[in-house]
Amino acid sequence: MKLVILGPPGAGKGTQAESIVEKFNIPHISTGDIFRENIKNETELGTKAKSYMDKGLLVPDSLVIEIVEDRLSKADAKDGFLLDGFPRTVQQAVSLDAFLDKMGTNLDRVINITVDPAALIERAVGRRVCKTCGATYHIKFNPPKEEGICDKDGTKLIQRDDDTEETVKTRIQVYSDQTSPLIDYYKAQSLILNIDGNQAIDKVFSDIENGLKSK
Ligand SMILES: [Zn+2]
Repeated sequence: MKLVILGPPGAGKGTQAESIVEKFNIPHISTGDIFRENIKNETELGTKAKSYMDKGLLVPDSLVIEIVEDRLSKADAKDGFLLDGFPRTVQQAVSLDAFLDKMGTNLDRVINITVDPAALIERAVGRRVCKTCGATYHIKFNPPKEEGICDKDGTKLIQRDDDTEETVKTRIQVYSDQTSPLIDYYKAQSLILNIDGNQAIDKVFSDIENGLKSK
């Protein structure tokens, strides 16, 4: 199963990705992780990427593609993978198709998790975190036993600076501007599997499973 997963920040993509890779026994290829790994191991690609990041510049598409292709060439990705965080642009998607074509294969599905913007805002704005242990709560969906206090260590919970309505709205807008051309690209290839991410975590996953079976 060769898959891509798309979804706006805060849609629970990470949780679903973990369940998918476990269920289908495929590697989870997250661009964030492979970048960190290449930089840590000081590979040639990692050193190149770091030189851009140190200057505060975006890593160019060509280098992102090179790093992903390098990872996809490893033996464990031969029979399947879940790509997360890539592709982000149509140019990257075209390169990915060309690469897979050269390997004599192609993508099976592009999982697109959708969530109402209002729900994403509610999730983020109600989130509270503990700086001591990293636990996260939600004032409505997962409240601590005592309001504003971490259950585990009694630390006062805080709201992260980027969990305000304004920043969440901006994040969603940036995401949708960036991904809508990509979704159109994959729609044209009939690869999109739309998943309603407004449901309970288990239901979202069973929809993904059923959707993947139906192709
Ligand atoms: Zn805590």
